Amino acid sequence: MFKAIHAETGKDIISIDPSWADRIDLLRLLDRQNKLLCQECREPVRLKAGDEKVRHFAHKHLKNCSLANVSPEVLMVRALVYARLVQEFGDHTTLEKAWTISRPIDCFVDTASGGIAYWVIDRGIKREDRSVLEEGMKGIATHVHWIFASSMRKPLQENPSALSLTTTERALMAQSSLDVEIKNGDLVRGKSLQYVDHKAAILDTHRSLELVHAPQVYSSKPKMSPLADVLIAPKTGEFAHTGEHEQFLVVKAEWDRVKIPKRIAAEKEATRLRIAQQAEAERQAWIAKEKAELHADLAAMAARASSLRSRSD
Ligand SMILES: [Zn+2]
Repeated sequence: MFKAIHAETGKDIISIDPSWADRIDLLRLLDRQNKLLCQECREPVRLKAGDEKVRHFAHKHLKNCSLANVSPEVLMVRALVYARLVQEFGDHTTLEKAWTISRPIDCFVDTASGGIAYWVIDRGIKREDRSVLEEGMKGIATHVHWIFASSMRKPLQENPSALSLTTTERALMAQSSLDVEIKNGDLVRGKSLQYVDHKAAILDTHRSLELVHAPQVYSSKPKMSPLADVLIAPKTGEFAHTGEHEQFLVVKAEWDRVKIPKRIAAEKEATRLRIAQQAEAERQAWIAKEKAELHADLAAMAARASSLRSRSD
């Protein structure tokens, strides 16, 4: 884990926060004094700061704590994502955010328009657990980003842009505002999945996922960038690759070009229908008037005939 609680001040201490980089001795001192506590079980944790591993905390005594049961891969992805988010959102970023459901949230950003959550996945999640997780996220975050550890990615040997997806990946594919194309005269939004390779520090996004072989083989448009080059949407926290926004603008301009003549044609058709309906209504009114006049004439003629008959009697 990367977060500990200061036993006396109750404040969060994030081991990989840049502000601790030149104050490791202070962290070591707090460790010796048993002043660093796990936020979940409140047991003392120790600082692990070697050359090989990312600076983190571990329980001093083995505990059955949800924070201890996280794989090293999830931890590494969490650290990488956090580092990138801090560059973008500064103090608004935290990691291992405690909440009432499951283990803490890997990374979290507080913005004026709501929370942005990042949840790292390294194995399939049972359907019941997934719905609890998704429901819980709705209560705490405006935007949720599912980030898969790259060990879950299973490209097909014969076609590396096609993926064999688990039920969990299929259930958590997300629509992206950047993943749009015009198909048969309509604007279509595609679904994406994103993977982080912690060894290479790379974000691997698969866009426009489409089922090509039921139930689990999907074609995709893959895009890869070093995490350091990944762009982050300030409002939604969505990850994007260089050039994707520009590509989106091209599609949007094309859509405007298609959409406007389409709307004009629809308006013309509506006017034509309205005029035709009006003409029909006028015609019906004229027929009704003619009929009424005819009836009146017939009645007058009948009256006259009857009066002539009575006079001749
Ligand atoms: Zn604990």
